[in-house]
Amino acid sequence: MVQKISLVIPCKNEFSAIGPFLTALTLHLDGLAANGFTFEFVFVDDGSNDETLNELLARSRHDPRIVVLELSRNFGKEAALTAGIDHATGDAIIPIDVDMQDPPELIPDMITKWQEGFDVVLARRRSRESDTASKRWAAAVFYRLHNKLSDLKLPENVGDFRLMDRLVVDQLKRMPERRRFMKGLFAWLGFRTAVIDYERPQRLTGTTKFNAWRLWNLALEGFTSFSTIPLRAWTYLGLFTSVTALVYGTFIVIKTMYYGVDVPGYASIFTAILFFGGLQLISLGVIGEYIGRTYEEAKGRPIYVIRRLYKADNNSATLPDDAAKLSSDR
Ligand code: UDP
Ligand code: MG
Repeated sequence: MVQKISLVIPCKNEFSAIGPFLTALTLHLDGLAANGFTFEFVFVDDGSNDETLNELLARSRHDPRIVVLELSRNFGKEAALTAGIDHATGDAIIPIDVDMQDPPELIPDMITKWQEGFDVVLARRRSRESDTASKRWAAAVFYRLHNKLSDLKLPENVGDFRLMDRLVVDQLKRMPERRRFMKGLFAWLGFRTAVIDYERPQRLTGTTKFNAWRLWNLALEGFTSFSTIPLRAWTYLGLFTSVTALVYGTFIVIKTMYYGVDVPGYASIFTAILFFGGLQLISLGVIGEYIGRTYEEAKGRPIYVIRRLYKADNNSATLPDDAAKLSSDR
């Protein structure tokens, strides 16, 4: 039986990376094609403002495996991945970055594991040496904190690069949330999982789209999507401070009864007011964070908007050489 593998490749301003990426795919996948696997490359153009889309369309004219999804604007990697996964038709689906940081040479190994009966094959980075020290530190803190706070345990050093059986993807599609922390959603699903270790290389060309602020937001997304402990923590903190206040209050009353009124205390009162004022604002902020997310989910807007889907016409023997003639639906 011929089995189809879909690669889902989100691209934001990746013009220079596409060529080398496709060359590497050819190099590593042609052997598999000879063994009865077919491939589909679902590229998602996530609102690029360089030549990414044109480059993809030009390539797709010569390669019927390429499907191009053009989003109406930049929706972010999580939404782009969702769009690609929704449109992938393979028996197994592999989200992969175009910048060669997810090495395509792992794909044959992933497929072997899949054939052995695993539903999910994770690619785990052996080390984080290709990251800056601060990113490494932030990642370590994130995983440790996340896995402490949340019932869901995220496997450490695993990104979106993985193979998922159709079974898994069909279940993934049942998760309707708008704010999508894909790594978490993948992990939440479970299934029979195998792991392959690899060395993550540096980005081949172009620049990272994830600066510190975006990573911070991604981390927040992770916490709030899979844990309500940040909300509950305030109950305990409040309980602790009120019990402490009660004890201290009793102490002051007794002290005043025995030793009379002791007026000075401006500094301590002022400090306490500031401290508890700050604490209340932080707790309000945390609640606000969750309310904001609830609000966004309640609106139920689509996760992404597709401007156009470009797909080679399966029925025509020769491929049209004009992008406009590629079959597309809106
Ligand atoms: N990406 C995307 N939309 C975005 C940001 C990134 O589709 O808004 C894609 C990007 O083109 C790349 C992948 O997501 O294929 C990973 O991004 P990047 O390499 O910049 O992240 P890093 O590897 O530095 O974490
Ligand atoms: Mg990268």
